[in-house]
Amino acid sequence: MGISVECPGRRRTGAAPAPPATRSRIVVLLGPPGAGKGTQADKLAVALGIPKVATGDVLRAAVRDGTPLGLEAKSYMDRGALVPDPIILGIMKAALAAPGAARGAILDGVVRTVPQAEGLHSALSELGRTVDAVIVFEIPEAELVRRISGRVVCETCQTSYPESMAGSRCPKDGGRLVRRSDDEPAAVQHRFGVYQTQTAPVIAWYRAHGARVLPIDAVGTPDEIRDRLLHALAS
Ligand code: AMP
Repeated sequence: MGISVECPGRRRTGAAPAPPATRSRIVVLLGPPGAGKGTQADKLAVALGIPKVATGDVLRAAVRDGTPLGLEAKSYMDRGALVPDPIILGIMKAALAAPGAARGAILDGVVRTVPQAEGLHSALSELGRTVDAVIVFEIPEAELVRRISGRVVCETCQTSYPESMAGSRCPKDGGRLVRRSDDEPAAVQHRFGVYQTQTAPVIAWYRAHGARVLPIDAVGTPDEIRDRLLHALAS
């Protein structure tokens, strides 16, 4: 499976603290749908100079392109269910092996089950690497519902915008701004349930395996939250 990951430049803005010295770092982002993982993954990728890998983005691109992967994944995604672990592990391994990820990666929504955490651990071990930090986005459910029901995303780059921009074009790349099919209320409800039953246990798994688990208050402006993340990572 060919996956290319782009390494953003080391542009840094605002008062965020300096990242630690350069080394290969794998940062896992965990959190319920709507917690802001995608937005923060983009910001961390810029601040740390390593690529973001988002299985959701890879799968949506495959659905859009009508590939066999997309055809298989679509039925799970449309109802807010998890795509089977073997498919995710394939995407994960291809992304980690890409040259852009040699210095590390921000894994956005890539790990959502304990078997996926185990699979990532084995894949990294084979490369002589390990997870550097696991960031857990903490946010009240009412705020999540408010965010998800009030967002549209760019069909091309997946950036989120307020619902009032629906029907217009993405300021970054001109893509159409649309509501994600799995942001419809029934699918959102299902995704929350899936997070509680299948993804929350991943936090305990990482704690039990001695990983650096960093809970982050995910309520605030995107830049405030980015600064919290960088402080926590630098600690
Ligand atoms: P996201 O954009 O991260 O919210 O992901 C959108 C959808 O893609 C999810 O609701 C799942 O159906 C699927 N997906 C993305 N990442 C994973 C994963 N690590 N494991 C299983 N399914 C995933």
